[in-house]
Amino acid sequence: MSRPVQYNTNNKPAIIPEGYSGEGFMATKMDRLVGLGRSHSLWPLPFATSCCGIEFMGTMGSNYDLGRFGAERMGFTPRQCDVLLVAGTISKKLAPVLRQVYLQMAEPRWVVAIGACASSGGIFDSYSVLQGIDQVIPVDVYVPGCPPRPEGIIEGVLRIQDLVKAESTRRRNHLRYKELMESYGIE
Ligand code: SF4
Repeated sequence: MSRPVQYNTNNKPAIIPEGYSGEGFMATKMDRLVGLGRSHSLWPLPFATSCCGIEFMGTMGSNYDLGRFGAERMGFTPRQCDVLLVAGTISKKLAPVLRQVYLQMAEPRWVVAIGACASSGGIFDSYSVLQGIDQVIPVDVYVPGCPPRPEGIIEGVLRIQDLVKAESTRRRNHLRYKELMESYGIE
């Protein structure tokens, strides 16, 4: 014999004040609205140094078309971009240049490490190769693979979109964020 189902009838639906409901109205938080707008209008800066860069070019092509996610506007000046896409091997000699590019981007900014080399140095465990870009700049999303397929790169951009949507507009003033920046020696 099944147990009788009991419904909680004490729950009352939220009462929306008069004048704030109906067609043409929507209630949300400012952070969510700003995040939604930002997440679908990302301006990536491709920092491609080797083979992963070719995969990134494939991601921009018509078969995969990053433009479907509102991120097709590549920028080649850091001052106009908000997502740094690092694709390829970064030598220790190039690391200060990468850091300089990151510093020239305005807040809010996000970073994706595309592929094994950018994430960890990959197969190049040598004296000249940086063993992961997170040694010089903070990374938000790591995309695995050598190289990652375009689907992987798209997945990385989607994860950035999730971060952007959920991020408070005040996160950049938060103590923990400042501590993260200080740990990289960035004021
Ligand atoms: S992860 Fe592999 S494909 Fe990407 S840059 Fe390094 S060696 Fe090339």
